[in-house]
Amino acid sequence: MEAKKLNQINIDDIINEIKKNFPDEDTTLCQLAFEFANEAHKGQTRLSGEPYIQHSLYTALRLAEIKMGTNTVIASILHDVPEDTDKTLDDIEKEFGTDIRGLVESLTKLSNIKYRGVKRQRENLRKMFLAMAQDIRVIIIKFADRLHNLQTLDALANNKRLRIAKETLEIYVPIAGLIGMWRFKWQMEDICFKYIYPEEFEKLNNKYEIEKKLERAKFIEKIQDILGKVFEKENLKYKIEGRFKHLYSIYQKMQKKQRCFDEIHDVFALRIIVDNISDCYKVLGIIHNIWKPKTNRIKDYIAVPKPNGYQSLHTTVFGPGGKATEFQIRTQKMHEEAIYGIAAHWKYKEQGVENKEKPKWIQEILELQKEIESTHKFITDIKFDVFNDRIFVFSPKGEVFELPEDATPVDFAFAVHTDIGNYATGAIVNDKIMNLDCKLKDGDTIEIIINKNRKGPNKDWLKFIKTRKARNKIKQFAKKSRFENIKKLIYKQY
Ligand code: MN
Repeated sequence: MEAKKLNQINIDDIINEIKKNFPDEDTTLCQLAFEFANEAHKGQTRLSGEPYIQHSLYTALRLAEIKMGTNTVIASILHDVPEDTDKTLDDIEKEFGTDIRGLVESLTKLSNIKYRGVKRQRENLRKMFLAMAQDIRVIIIKFADRLHNLQTLDALANNKRLRIAKETLEIYVPIAGLIGMWRFKWQMEDICFKYIYPEEFEKLNNKYEIEKKLERAKFIEKIQDILGKVFEKENLKYKIEGRFKHLYSIYQKMQKKQRCFDEIHDVFALRIIVDNISDCYKVLGIIHNIWKPKTNRIKDYIAVPKPNGYQSLHTTVFGPGGKATEFQIRTQKMHEEAIYGIAAHWKYKEQGVENKEKPKWIQEILELQKEIESTHKFITDIKFDVFNDRIFVFSPKGEVFELPEDATPVDFAFAVHTDIGNYATGAIVNDKIMNLDCKLKDGDTIEIIINKNRKGPNKDWLKFIKTRKARNKIKQFAKKSRFENIKKLIYKQY
């Protein structure tokens, strides 16, 4: 018998992962999906030379790891079957039911999204959003699929590699950020960085990975030694990890702030994950007891979460050898939400304190989940139609803006920038000149015509705008100009 290749995945790896997260789950269908896909892809290989099924299994394993439901995992095993084999969507429906068919169908439709310049990019983004609106699981599967394609880019010709990397950076990455799937976002970004800016990547990689790796490993070990002893004495269950660094985000920061590497990332960063909130504070106390904290660097995002719902305790201390050392302390649930975003909510049925600042559509998805979760075991079997009263529109450069239904070019202008709103005189919507009070539709591209000689926003706009942001900005401007007028009057008097 042939020995199992080192990095080959088999269906048992996936089933074990599902069982780890959902011990009572019936995985028969999962096994069946493997046999079905394996048979369908028989004899096919990837350009890397691997059997094709490895790609499907890799995609499925990533999703099982982030605790997605079984139907999502099964759909990912089958995701390339209709496109690349003789088996049809109807065959899939017969074996696996309508929910899985629906997922695979949406994935097949999305598979011809390709980067071909800015105009196509908007079209593609629109398609992605529409798919997401129907069922957000489709996009999550798409991310896992894309991640494996990126990891096997070396097998492709140079121009194709570059095209896929660009397409990822411009289409997939922004959406991953929007739904809070940070770990996927960072992983995709770093691979794209390597192919799009090879020299810059190499430089940073040497500096960060090679020069610092050993130093970092030793330092983490030292901290682990010191803390481990105390934690054991206190009977604290904990996980400690060195923080994963993202070369692309370091690169972006260096570009933006015009600073060098050492100024930005000369801090050692660690993360401690514990069982519950009171342990988080306990750990913070222990750390401060051992090392002196930098006083202005203690942040309690548990008591006061960030606007996007992020929770953790942060502190920077003068660690061993006086080295600035940053800790993030959080529970497992906070951790998963911080790195997997919306995908993390699949597992956690009990909802803690809802954060009001979350984008409205995410809140609605969560609400809907709560309702359905009371009757279903997982959240795998729902369709989302919560995008009904939200629209996604685009700037001429292809940036995406989320607005309420019936929003106008004025709302869009203020969403882009206060000055664009203040000086707006007209709008070009999909290449047509339109009034500032026209109603925007999903997928519109809007360019705002500005006139710097304008005195400021028109108060009549308040009658038709839909966003609070535009409203506040217009009122603010009115207040300010009244103040300016009063000032002028006073000056005149003296
Ligand atoms: Mn695929």
